[in-house]
Amino acid sequence: MLPVDPVKENYVRKVKNCIFSMAFPTPFKSGVRLIAVSKEVLEDILDLDLSVSETEDFIQLVSGEKILFGSIPLAHRYGGHQFGIWADQLGDGRAHLIGIYMNRQGEKWELQLKGSGKTPYSRDGDGRAVLRSSVREFLCSEAMHYLGIPTSRAASLVVSDDGVWRDQFYNGNIVQERGAVVLRVAKSWFRFGSLEILAHDGELDLLRTLLDFIIQEHFPSVDVKEPNRYVDFFSIVVSETAQLIALWMSVGFAHGVCNTDNFSLLSITIDYGPFGFMEAYNPDFVPNTSDDERRYKIGNQANIGMFNLNKLLQALNPLLDPRQKHLAAQILEGYPDLYYTRFRELFKAKLGLLGERKGDEELIAFLLHLMEKTEADFTMTFRQLSEITRDQLQELAVPQQFWALKMISKHELFPAWVSQYLLRLKSNRNDSDSERRERMTTVNPRYVLKNWMAESAVQKAERNDFSEVRLLQQVLQHPFQKHSAAEKAGYSSPTPSWAKDLRVSCSS
Ligand code: AMP
Ligand code: MG
Ligand code: MG
Repeated sequence: MLPVDPVKENYVRKVKNCIFSMAFPTPFKSGVRLIAVSKEVLEDILDLDLSVSETEDFIQLVSGEKILFGSIPLAHRYGGHQFGIWADQLGDGRAHLIGIYMNRQGEKWELQLKGSGKTPYSRDGDGRAVLRSSVREFLCSEAMHYLGIPTSRAASLVVSDDGVWRDQFYNGNIVQERGAVVLRVAKSWFRFGSLEILAHDGELDLLRTLLDFIIQEHFPSVDVKEPNRYVDFFSIVVSETAQLIALWMSVGFAHGVCNTDNFSLLSITIDYGPFGFMEAYNPDFVPNTSDDERRYKIGNQANIGMFNLNKLLQALNPLLDPRQKHLAAQILEGYPDLYYTRFRELFKAKLGLLGERKGDEELIAFLLHLMEKTEADFTMTFRQLSEITRDQLQELAVPQQFWALKMISKHELFPAWVSQYLLRLKSNRNDSDSERRERMTTVNPRYVLKNWMAESAVQKAERNDFSEVRLLQQVLQHPFQKHSAAEKAGYSSPTPSWAKDLRVSCSS
């Protein structure tokens, strides 16, 4: 029995003076089934034996039907700037924090259900998430982890037979979708917007309390007793945000909705919605069909990072004295440098370049320019450069299987780029070509979750065939290794023609 009536607790309202509201998941009414689990998250993070996932108890827990003994589920109150505009209270409108788990290594992990029903923050939403977006979040968050990018993780994915209405059409008729829940796991779910709402509503004591808690729990290098602690905290968020966005760029990831409520204070990737991995290289790539102004195009993400950090600083400002404000503003000014330094490092590694040489930046920019002009696939160009030998490049004899390189090689300036590149590789002292290729294949993935792959898995999942969800999950755990079933499925081949114009809406 629940100690309180969820209907009474979960009514939608403007909430004041708190960081969390008690909120109970709403169980599905019909046909809940488990689609996928992440063995690694269960075993390595949650100390669970994989076989636990086969129990009825587990399915009840991860679908929101059952609460852990002693747990008080919570929905977090946060605000945010959406598409540049202050949106006031947002909050966990369809997510429930069901507990914090401390594992054998002494790490604390926050367990959150997404799609588990209404909360005080649901506004006019139904508190649900559909299968399609849940499959995407489950697969992509795990994929990002294996690409080495800080991210929330996904432990499980369940679907129900409960109908959920979104804007999906088939043959002109609106179709009902099914509700799904992902159990998401992160060290912390606090966002820029967690602090913004408190500053905005003038709840400065609470702002201080929350900040000190976050610093104590998640920023061990910052001394909570230090008067400059908020500046020190800000400095870390600035540099980690720069690192994160540079990492996104290094794999062609566009988040899609870089609102301040979707930016983690721990600088991990969170809230996977209409994200996309860029295919043909294009700095104007926008994955989200609803982003008319192209605000969150891939090439603008670093700028948006600056915008968001500036909003974060505005939230901290009421707690800073004039000297600290000045210091924090200076730190923010250092953001572009931090970003470009990391960007350069990552792209140099993608090209297998060792050390620092004059002209490295130009070499990178030159290649990106050729890719843009020839619409070459971003992921596969770098991957194929990692697989082709120096001799093959030298002879400008690009074998047929290197289809992305073949596309670039049609550009009249390709030979010029190749000769500059080869010259630069020669300056890598004591480096053999096999070492270069080995190095490059460990940073240039062969498989990323392109839209068409997710779409293909979703279409099957809609028909209760979860085989491709599981195949993708398996393949994306080793994105740098060739995988025969992945090759057969075409995951390293050109995008199939049926998927050329595929885009995603933010309805989820
Ligand atoms: P998102 O764009 O998914 O990050 O969501 C932005 C805000 O809308 C957050 O406060 C979400 O909790 C809320 N939200 C999105 N979808 C729903 C839904 N179906 N029901 C309730 N709240 C939602
Ligand atoms: Mg969000
Ligand atoms: Mg969300």
